[in-house]
Amino acid sequence: MNKINLKGYTLTQMEEFLKQLGEPAYRAKQIFKWIYKGQTQFENMTDLPKKLIKKLENSAYISMVNIYKKYESDIDETVKYIFLLEDRNMVESVKMKYSFGITACISSQVGCPMGCVFCASTEGGIVRNLSWGEMTDEVLAIENDSNEKVSRVVVMGSGEPLLNYEELIQFLKVMNSPLAFNISLRRLTVSTCGIVPGIIRLSEEGMPITLAVSLHAPNDDIRNSLMPINKQYPILQLLDACKYYIIKTKRRITFEYVLISNINDTEQCAQELSNLLEDLLCHVNLIPLNPVEGKNLNRSDPVRVRRFEKILLDEGISTTVRREMGGDIKAACGQLRRSLLMG
Ligand code: SF4
Repeated sequence: MNKINLKGYTLTQMEEFLKQLGEPAYRAKQIFKWIYKGQTQFENMTDLPKKLIKKLENSAYISMVNIYKKYESDIDETVKYIFLLEDRNMVESVKMKYSFGITACISSQVGCPMGCVFCASTEGGIVRNLSWGEMTDEVLAIENDSNEKVSRVVVMGSGEPLLNYEELIQFLKVMNSPLAFNISLRRLTVSTCGIVPGIIRLSEEGMPITLAVSLHAPNDDIRNSLMPINKQYPILQLLDACKYYIIKTKRRITFEYVLISNINDTEQCAQELSNLLEDLLCHVNLIPLNPVEGKNLNRSDPVRVRRFEKILLDEGISTTVRREMGGDIKAACGQLRRSLLMG
């Protein structure tokens, strides 16, 4: 008999499964809690009767990703992981340590279909979506490895999360569930390259998580050249969806803006960007580019970054320059996986 993987079963599905085993529904809650404490062995679930443990061992298992490689920063406590999935695909995740606790940056797809020109994750295209159980495993594996609870999760690794919508929502529910990770919605961030229907749908979920939108340009000409998605959903349409998200969730949106030398980092770009975001409840996160090998794109010099920031601040736009974590293991998102795939 093929054993069932209980990682990825919702509480309701778990209750149904236990009913089939002739067990009471309340056992589902106990098992659910153990799974999201990181337990993979039924025999270690100390509040279950031996008879049930036997039944579970005969019919089910709990999957877990394996750490394939791990890169630890000598500068700060950032760790980048390459996880090996059950089908031998690989994904990247990052653990970052802040004063308030650990943040896990996780992937939502193997590879990415979006084709942003500055990104290594998209080089081999999309391989497949991750299930919510696999996304949860990325967080669990980070917790297990570091022996600390994750207090904030950002879905900002490889992949476009809003193209893996159902799994994303279930993942966020488990992160937020008091029976599992119990992380508040404010501490959950989803980053999108601007899938307008996905943003509108997310606005209506009644889940006021933090939304980060990769903007990276102040006008359609530049954005078209950096992000193919802009041809489908141009900037003004994207900003309309963002306004809708703000109205529905009352949450401030973060706009991510990677600064690329002489492409989107001029004073004129900064001015144009501040005009565009005027009156919007938002924060701008400026990110000096992490150059990807083989692409002819350079990072802006620090003076230019500060000038860009100052223009936005002078116009009353809340802005910060993202602190670089793990500078010595600084491969940009997707680069580690890509370099391993290319041998
Ligand atoms: S930046 Fe994000 S959306 Fe764009 S290709 Fe990379 S992973 Fe995909």
